[in-house]
Amino acid sequence: MKIIDGKSISQELRRELKKEVEDLKKQGIEPGLATILVGDDPASQVYVKSKIKDCAELGINSFHNPLPASAGEKDIISLIEKLNSDGKVHGILLQLPLPKGTPQDRCLESINPEKDADGLHPFNLGKLAIAKSWAEIEEQRLLAPCTPLGVMELLERSGVEISGKNAVVVGRSNLVGKPVALLLLSKNATVTMAHSRTKDLQEVCRKADILIAAIGKERFITKDFIKPGSAVIDVGINRSEKGLVGDVDFDSVKDFVSAITPVPGGVGPMTRTMLMKNTILAARKQGK
Ligand code: NDP
Repeated sequence: MKIIDGKSISQELRRELKKEVEDLKKQGIEPGLATILVGDDPASQVYVKSKIKDCAELGINSFHNPLPASAGEKDIISLIEKLNSDGKVHGILLQLPLPKGTPQDRCLESINPEKDADGLHPFNLGKLAIAKSWAEIEEQRLLAPCTPLGVMELLERSGVEISGKNAVVVGRSNLVGKPVALLLLSKNATVTMAHSRTKDLQEVCRKADILIAAIGKERFITKDFIKPGSAVIDVGINRSEKGLVGDVDFDSVKDFVSAITPVPGGVGPMTRTMLMKNTILAARKQGK
């Protein structure tokens, strides 16, 4: 059994990205990411800080834009419009969740899709849905959501074969489940999407050569869900009294799988790194 080490894969990728930034700078392009934090939610503050730190590590310019919790849709959208027309900003990251009552979708939709570093704009999700292949996604330099991209990178870099394999994705959110299913499909997996209304979920999961758990339920996936020899990617992050735990009961399944991501140290570090990758991709595409 192989533990898919998200930390070391993420470090390897960061080394490559750092070089890419250096190359871009030689061509006169200085990648820049603008972060927007509305309010003072402590967890969101930590997330934004770590993204700014990641930018510094890779040589990406960062521009932080804090707004008070009282800021409404109009204030957020007018800031986004300003950043949309700022040539130094190639990626815009609106930290979610927004304070209660602020229409998240309308704010996200005001981001120029070319600067949509999180890949959550409906235009980009639509482009992902109609892409015919992974090659087309790469050719178009599509900005896809960061966590699903991280999942793909983990599978690829740990040598898990995708084409022709049965992939089961448990969870159908726009943030994780749906885009990860589309990305797997673009790499020619036979994809099944499962959710809370799926009948005989264990049986469905037992057909998976690749099982992606994005549920948000602590240790939900036990050995009864596992096809022996399969690869399991645990996207879940659940806070328990034992610290962070995934959606997969790691100890129960580890002896049956060929490869598995731990929590923490699996998908989590990749999500942060893929935001950097998207920012660089956006800078390359905008070319200025
Ligand atoms: P959502 O709550 O938006 O979606 C959860 C999905 O799981 C839904 O589609 C839901 O089905 C499904 N689900 C819930 N209960 C069951 C069940 N009993 N059986 C089958 N399916 C079920 O969560 P997210 O997609 O945003 O996140 C999923 C997990 O991933 C969370 O733990 C989150 O913290 C983590 N996460 C981790 C990231 C990382 O960087 N590692 C980034 C983003 C998220 P239905 O649609 O029918 O309700």
